[in-house]
Amino acid sequence: MPFTKDLIAPCGINCAICMAYLRDKNSCSGCLGPDEEKRPSCRSCKKKTCEEHTKAEFAYCFECPKFPCKTMKDLEKRYTTKYHYSPITTLNQIKEEGFDAFLAAEEEKWKCKNCGATLCVHRETCLKCGATIERI
Ligand code: SF4
Ligand code: SF4
Ligand SMILES: [Zn+2]
Repeated sequence: MPFTKDLIAPCGINCAICMAYLRDKNSCSGCLGPDEEKRPSCRSCKKKTCEEHTKAEFAYCFECPKFPCKTMKDLEKRYTTKYHYSPITTLNQIKEEGFDAFLAAEEEKWKCKNCGATLCVHRETCLKCGATIERI
């Protein structure tokens, strides 16, 4: 399944590699999807509902004058520690390279080298074939 811009959350999380998006039952449609298809915690997400975001016209946190704010730094700490994924680096990459280049690189990065399935950032093995994911 190709990665698309509308699956990149304002905070830099790629919903296409989130376990909640990839699972079969009660899956989440992604941060930018309809609210009724999201988990309550994502519906009330502090990044998407923060004042800077709601009062401004911008779509992504890298466009915010407060970036990276404390909420973003907290997310960064949690994701780099637990999942070896940096939302801040992701956002800077999008800012510098643009969405097309970012999405092409992301699709390659999160493809299982053994079976080609999309890998999950929240798991250490491929959901389809069980191969161990090599984090770069
Ligand atoms: S749970 Fe959150 S990060 Fe995961 S797909 Fe839904 S909105 Fe995206
Ligand atoms: S960088 Fe922080 S303050 Fe700015 S929109 Fe994102 S979460 Fe809100
Ligand atoms: Zn696999």
